Parts: sequence; C-alpha cells; structure tokens
Amino acid sequence: MSPLKAVRGVRDILPGESPRWQQVEAAARAVFEAYGYREIRLPLFERTELFARGIGDETDIVKKEMYTFEDRGGESLTLRPEATASLLRAYIEHGLHVQPKPVRLYTLGPMFRYERPQAGRYRQFHQADVEALGEIHPAVDAEVIAMLVDFFGALRLADRLELHINSIGDAGTRPVYVARLVEYLTPRREGLCPECRTRLDRNPLRVLDCKVPDCQPIIEKAPSILDSLSPEAAQHFESVRQCLDAMGVRYTVNPRLVRGLDYYVRTTFELLTTELGAQNAVAGGGRYDGLIKQLEGPPDPGVGFAIGLERMVLLLRDVEVAATPLALLIPLGDAALKRLLPLARRARQEGVGVELGYGGRKLQKELERANRLGVGWAVIAGENELAQGEAVLKEMKTGEQRRVPLTRLADELIALARGRKDPV
Ligand code: AMP
Repeated sequence: MSPLKAVRGVRDILPGESPRWQQVEAAARAVFEAYGYREIRLPLFERTELFARGIGDETDIVKKEMYTFEDRGGESLTLRPEATASLLRAYIEHGLHVQPKPVRLYTLGPMFRYERPQAGRYRQFHQADVEALGEIHPAVDAEVIAMLVDFFGALRLADRLELHINSIGDAGTRPVYVARLVEYLTPRREGLCPECRTRLDRNPLRVLDCKVPDCQPIIEKAPSILDSLSPEAAQHFESVRQCLDAMGVRYTVNPRLVRGLDYYVRTTFELLTTELGAQNAVAGGGRYDGLIKQLEGPPDPGVGFAIGLERMVLLLRDVEVAATPLALLIPLGDAALKRLLPLARRARQEGVGVELGYGGRKLQKELERANRLGVGWAVIAGENELAQGEAVLKEMKTGEQRRVPLTRLADELIALARGRKDPV
C-alpha cells in the first residue's frame, strides 16, 4: 500500500514557509486595525442556501465550484467558497448593524473551491477579507482601497502591483449596458472562445474578463460600461477617484474589470501583478449595496475586498525572513544538562528562541547541528566549565569565544537577542 497524500489542490504549509504566512497575517492585522477594523471569526461551513442567495445562482462559484454535502441530519451544507456571505449572515444574525456606521470587520482563514488546481490556484486557499458596512459615501470605497494599498506597502510589495478600478453601475441601470454588450457580441459570437460563447448566454458581462488571446480584439472594441452609468453611479465613481487622488493613491481605470460575483454594484477594483503568470489577481473587491437586504437584513450598503494569501506568500518568496533560534545550548553530560535546562527556559520565557542539546552527543556533533540550525551562538558547558560556574559562549560566524558565568547566561542571551533585533 502506498502512503496517503494530501487531496489534489490542497497543500500543507510547511515550517519553512510559515514565517512568511505569519508576516502576511501580522501585516494584515496591523494595517486593518489601524483603520478601525475589528476581527470576526466565522464558521468554515454554512447552509448551502446562504451561498446560493448571497453569491448568485448563475456564478461559476455556485454552479461549479462549491464543496456541498449533506450532513447526517440531511441538511445541505457547503464549505465556504468566500467570506462575504458568511460575514453578512453574522452581521444580520447578531444585530451588528446597530453599531456606529460604518461597521468595519475583517476575517482571515481558509476558503474552498473546486477549481482546476495550478500554480497559485488551489482548492483550499486562504483569504484576508475586509468589509465596511452601512455607509454609502464614496470616501469609504476610497478608504478601503487605500487600506488595501497600504497593506501591500507594509510588506514592501507596493511597487510590484498595479491597482485597477472601475464602476459597473447600479443594479437598476446595468441591464441597459448588458443589452448593448449582447447586441455588440452576438454578431461576433463565432470569434469568441467556447467559454465566452456560453458566457454570452448566461452572464455576458463576464466575457469582458476573458483572458483568452483570441477574444481580446473583440473585447477591446466592446462598448465601455463607463458610458452607460446612471448619473448617480457616474458621480459616485468620480468622487471615489477624487478621494483616491487626494490620498495620492495611483490607479488605472479599467472599464473591463467586472469581477466574477453577481453582487457587485458601482465600484469594483483589483490588484494585479505581472509576476504570477495566469494567476495575476492578488486581491479584488467592490461595493455591494443590495446584498445585505437580499439576505433579509437591513438595507445597509457595503464595500469590501478579499486578498489571496497564497499569492501574497508567493510574492514574498524572495524576501528573507529569519526564524532561526538565537543559540544552541550544548551541555556535555547530565549534570550540565540540569544546569542549562532552567536557563534555556528563562530565555524562552523572555521570548528568546534557543535550542538545547540533551547531553548525550559529542561536542563535534552538536557544533555541526548548530551550523545546520543556522544559530548565531553556541553555548558549551562541560565538566570544566561547570566546575567554575561558567559556560563558553561561541559566536558561530567568527569562531570567537568567551566565558560567561552561568548566573548571567540567560541575561546575556536576552541581551544578544535584543542586539540582533529579534522579536523578543
Ligand atoms: P475572489 O473571492 O474570487 O474575488 O478572489 C479574491 C482573491 O482570492 C483573488 O484575487 C485571489 O488572489 C484569491 N483566490 C481566489 N481563488 C483562489 C484559488 N482557487 N486559489 C488561490 N487563491 C485564490
């Protein structure tokens, strides 16, 4: 029998990668909280109906990508494919709308979609999701977008991404544009890829999103949605742009940015990179003013975005992150182990990462281990040193060594860690 492997499209995040995940998650929390967002933690599965109603029956997600199952009680449940629907369900269920508006919430965690796995696209993946609820003002759209840009700035990735924004108009006036689009596309149907021919019948707006080269000449000449905005939607978009300009946020207006979910109105936006091949969208979002009401909640508007964390971590792959312990403590023999154990514990209680040998191995072997761990220092305590109440502190890079009294060793390590600017 061969050993079992993880399910296709689902991956382990191994310790070598974890520091980058922690870095991304810490930056998300720090930036979002500075903008007044508070964390909400949501269940990983919900009633299937929530997603059918909240995302839209005609979307690819609901039609083809959900992990839906019946539980033992016969209820149809679905692993969440995105966080917005769950977050709004919680907002309504717990009456959070009575709080001062906008109610600002964020959540981090795994999502599940049955998609074709490839580099940067998985069946279990992670998102940071942010929503500002209950405020219609275009400044909120701009503020949310600026926060997204600042998050990338905090990770020093701002220069490697491009912000695209668009307005897809109001739900009431969008059918006018869709009719114009269908009128334009129908005579050109044969030139479209098979997928777009289906989209033309089911969800024509999505044709604008297609990345297939054959479709591009047709898409480029399609009528622009920006010419079909209602006066209110046009004014809203103009105001979002002015607010972004006032904050010095750089963007490209992309009239073909329509996004995959049914619920968006007015503002849509995406952050794109040229570094990840076909999976070039790192984050995306928009405004969804009718959605909360559609889920039987108050008539509150909303605007938000989701960041794909796997893609963030991929972008950070060339950024060095140190997670090595500061020192390896090497007791030679059992008596030395008993002296070093409590000192290691004290250093660790202060947040200083140290590794410990257990006294049974030869010094040479332990020094090899120190090299492989990549620690900065080795602390050696044999019978000689112990008899004098001391240990040898050896800097691995230079080979320089000095003696330190055992009573001061923990403090010395803590001081070294502070000097190394470790997170202590
Ligand atoms: P969406 O919820 O589809 O708007 O996606 C928001 C972001 O999540 C995208 O920009 C991607 O970065 C990320 N994302 C979406 N689907 C996947 C997936 N299957 N695997 C990895 N990341 C994904």
